[in-house]
Formats: sequence, C-alpha cells, structure tokens
Amino acid sequence: MKDIIIVGGGLAGLTAGMYTKRAGLDTILFEKMFPGGQAATTNMIENYPGFDDPVSGPEFAMKIENHARKFDLEIKYDEITGLELGGKVKKVLTENEEYEAKAVILAMGAEPRKLGLEKEDEFRGRGVSYCATCDGAFYKDKDVVVVGGGDTAAEDAMFLAQYVNKVYLVHRRDSLRATKILADRVISNKKIEKIWDSRVEAILGEDNVTGIRVVNVKTGEKREIKLDGIFIAIGVRPNNELIKGTIEMTEAGYVLTNESMETNIPGVFAVGDLRQKPLLQLITAAADGAVAAYSAQKYLIENFDE
Ligand code: NAP
Repeated sequence: MKDIIIVGGGLAGLTAGMYTKRAGLDTILFEKMFPGGQAATTNMIENYPGFDDPVSGPEFAMKIENHARKFDLEIKYDEITGLELGGKVKKVLTENEEYEAKAVILAMGAEPRKLGLEKEDEFRGRGVSYCATCDGAFYKDKDVVVVGGGDTAAEDAMFLAQYVNKVYLVHRRDSLRATKILADRVISNKKIEKIWDSRVEAILGEDNVTGIRVVNVKTGEKREIKLDGIFIAIGVRPNNELIKGTIEMTEAGYVLTNESMETNIPGVFAVGDLRQKPLLQLITAAADGAVAAYSAQKYLIENFDE
C-alpha cells in the first residue's frame, strides 16, 4: 500500500508530490496525458515568482516535472478509471490495475468549457480549438476569432495576433473581465477587432470552419464573418467525473475543501483548479499542493501510527 496517491499531474499535483516525497512518504502520481496541466498549454507565463523573464508554458511544465523527479516522485502515465475513497484504505483503479493508499490527493484540474454550438465538436481540429498555444501556428496569415473576455481570451488574442492576418475578439459584454494589464494590451492592439456585446450564434462551414455568425445581444443585429479558426476561451469546468456524487462540491462542480485542503472525506484532499477558491492561478495551485501534502502527512501520523 502506498502512503499517498495523487490524481493529476498539473502544477498542484506535482507540487504535492514534491512535498510528500520530501517528507519521506511513499507517493505515486497518476497523469493521463502530459505533465503541467493547463500551464503546459499556456503561451507565456509572466506572473510566477522567480521567473522574471517570461517562460513558455511547455518549458515551465517540464521544469516542474524535472523538479518533482529530483525528489524521486514516481509518475505513472495512466488514466484512473475509478476511485473508492470512503474506507480507511483508499482504492485507485486503472484499466488493468488496482492501487491502494492511505490518503489521496485529488488534482484533476479543469478543462476548457464549450460554447455548446452545433458543429463545435465535429469541427474540433478542423477550425475549432481550445488552445491557442497548441494550434495557433496553423493559422499563419489567416483570419481567426477568439471568443471570451477573461485572461485566457486576452492572452490568446495577443498570442494569435503575432501569427495571423487578423483576430476578431467576440465578447458578450462591452468590457473585458481580464486583468487590466492584459486588457489594455488587447484594446490597443490594432490587429484585434473587438466585437462587443455579441455572441457567436453559429459556426459556418461544410467540412471545416469557414466563418461564424455573430449576434449583437443588445440590438439583435446579426453579422457573418469569414474566417478560418475559432479559439474558444470562455473559462473552465472542473474535471470531477471520477468523484461526482461522492464528495461535497459546489453547484458548479468545484470540490469544497477547508484551508487545509481537506474534503469532507477523511484522508481525501483536493487541490488546484478542481477546488472552490477565489483565485485560479499557478501560484495558488502550487500553494494548494504544498498545503495538501502537509495535511496528508499529518493525517497519516494521526491515523496510521506513522
Ligand atoms: P474566466 O475568467 O472565467 O472568463 C471567461 C470569459 O468567458 C468571461 O469573459 C465570460 O464572460 C466569458 N463566457 C463565459 N461563458 C460564456 C459563454 N457561454 N459564451 C460566451 N462567453 C462566455 O476564464 P479564463 O479567462 O479561462 O480564466 C480562468 C482562470 O484562469 C481565471 O481565474 C483567470 O484569472 C486565470 N488565468 C490567469 C492568467 C494570467 O494570470 N496570466 C491567464 C489565463 C487564465 P463574462 O465576462 O460576461 O462573464
């Protein structure tokens, strides 16, 4: 039996692993895709303390993974298919194996939300993208739209403006929610045409994206725009499928924890973008990981005669 199993290898999970290993706890971390979580699909990170020059998301992710491995954190690239968390011994299931642990740290993070439009799924990879950093280079000298008004939309629009011919930014209100420094950059960028008070009503095209239809939510006026790519940046939703109905969460599906990252189930902790908190940022994800590791260690001492 492992001391700790961590589910998810974003910054929160990797930091938790770093701390539990450093505390001498036998830990295994599961990640189904790639390390670094959402940080790995971010263009540039410029607000993580210590990185005074902006660092690319993939490079940042690699550095964090390397750092965790320096403490001999065991990272397994496998998908968790089930969690049995109610008992004193926690069970973590993959397609072919079953693992046991004294405590579990949930770090599944969040993933981009969808607009819910017809053709959105069908055209994913054929003009519809949720990751400007990953797919932006395919749109050199083309016209694209970014949908959303938060930090992600602002960063995506700025990033894409470097490659493409033109960026439309469609936002349902008349001002951006993004941090002022990012919003100001978008506002002053002449390559970005802002379409305020509007929502995308339809994705146009037969086999791939050829345009969008936008409706002004105040006037009802409709407009069709020819373009090649749609970058959707309307926020995230927590990856809570594995724990729905078993752990207390908000209506929006974020796991409720206390300041020690404890969930309502003893021995189960939640960190990062999966949990309800005021600020979803890399710095708070890392902090969550450290706190959860400390709390898990304390839990083991109190409950397993460590
Ligand atoms: P967000 O802050 O939740 O913003 C989502 C945006 O999408 C909002 O402007 C919202 O409009 C709009 N929206 C939501 N649902 C929509 C829908 N169905 N149709 C059209 N528009 C819709 O999400 P985010 O930008 O992905 O950021 C997520 C978190 O990561 C935030 O905490 C953010 O600060 C953080 N982040 C930080 C950085 C950074 O610090 N550099 C970079 C990226 C992300 P309304 O404004 O009308 O609600």
